[in-house]
Amino acid sequence: MLTNAPRGTKDILPEQISGWLYVENEFRKICAAYGYEEIRTPTFEHTELFQRGIGEATDVVEKEMYTFTDRGNRSITLRPENTASAVRAYLQNKLYADGNLVKLFYIGSMFRYDRPQAGRLREFHQFGVEALGEKNPAVDTEIILLAWNFLKNLGLDELKLKINTVGCPACRPVYRQKLQHYFGEYLDELCGDCKSRLNKNPLRILDCKVDAGKEFMDEAPQIETCLCDECREHFARVKDLLTAANVEFEVDSRLVRGLDYYTKTAFEIQYTPLGAQSALAGGGRYDGLVEEIGGNPTPGIGFAAGIERILIALEKQNLIPTAQKNLAAFIVTAGSEAEIHGFKLLNDLRQKNIPATMDFAGRSMKAQMKQASKSGAKFALIIGEDEVSDKSVTVKNLETSAQEKISFDEVVTKFI
Ligand code: AMP
Repeated sequence: MLTNAPRGTKDILPEQISGWLYVENEFRKICAAYGYEEIRTPTFEHTELFQRGIGEATDVVEKEMYTFTDRGNRSITLRPENTASAVRAYLQNKLYADGNLVKLFYIGSMFRYDRPQAGRLREFHQFGVEALGEKNPAVDTEIILLAWNFLKNLGLDELKLKINTVGCPACRPVYRQKLQHYFGEYLDELCGDCKSRLNKNPLRILDCKVDAGKEFMDEAPQIETCLCDECREHFARVKDLLTAANVEFEVDSRLVRGLDYYTKTAFEIQYTPLGAQSALAGGGRYDGLVEEIGGNPTPGIGFAAGIERILIALEKQNLIPTAQKNLAAFIVTAGSEAEIHGFKLLNDLRQKNIPATMDFAGRSMKAQMKQASKSGAKFALIIGEDEVSDKSVTVKNLETSAQEKISFDEVVTKFI
């Protein structure tokens, strides 16, 4: 028990870190290119923020939140996603003050009490962006392109972009009613969850994994028939802009996203070889969220992507760059006096940020030389009795085996 991490969590080991850094750094680069700035919000928030910001009738709020009462008797929740927190921070810090579109990105861990399986964890990591303050469909498209180009540029090749519109408070109620009426006819055939979704959130029935294959699903009413002019035009514009950017997409009328605050555009990017957990990134417009959290009505749109899933996809295609070992020097010493010289040299090198190491286990010189070769270091810096007495260091190039003796004081400059 003590040596097992909680179910649904994972250690990220040193040998895996290069993949993580690669994905995070590439994301930071593309965000800089698109003009998004990093924000870091607390890992936990008041529970109410997520209840309001995500919606009571969602799986996340109903079943998946890590909620606890803290010692001050407040209800606290580990963030299950970052959008509500980013919007809270936007309001609290008045990021809207200069009236411009605010473009934020984040990277961090999220927590959901979900059933763990490949690509689904209880603590997982997401990065994402949020753009607040603009209703122009060009922003929807910018964000879709950021997500799409990011994944494409990593080299993933079986990506699919799916888009849809979920309407707005003006036209969605009509659609909800249509769905309630339609699925009401098939009440007996709906799964337990969908039976309760019928009243609370009938749109969610459309993306139910359990009911997905059932025949009545194919004939379900489509939102297109209910869209108001504004939503119809908005969606048409997003499609035109994507086409202009030469990006292929598929309109999927069953893509509704789980969260209540979404309006208009919804999208998902799938990596088809991953099967059940194929969604790498998903997002959409949430024009109702800022107001829901207590701000003035403000349009917003964003997406989130799962880092673990992206890494699984990259691994499948062998696209994770191997870690570069960049050790410059391995110091080899013989005897106590030499160790002091070696330790001073080690410190001098590290002060200049030159990666260097030495043996602390008191091994023989022969064993240290073996270690030096295995370490991937470019040079072995050897200090034996002779070197101690004439204040020198024998520098051995471990690739060519060439050797030279140089004075102790010159060694560091050799590496700069
Ligand atoms: P969502 O916030 O549910 O829209 O999810 C956005 C992305 O986060 C998904 O496409 C996944 O890549 C990732 N994701 C969501 N939930 C999990 C989870 N439990 N474990 C791992 N990744 C997840």
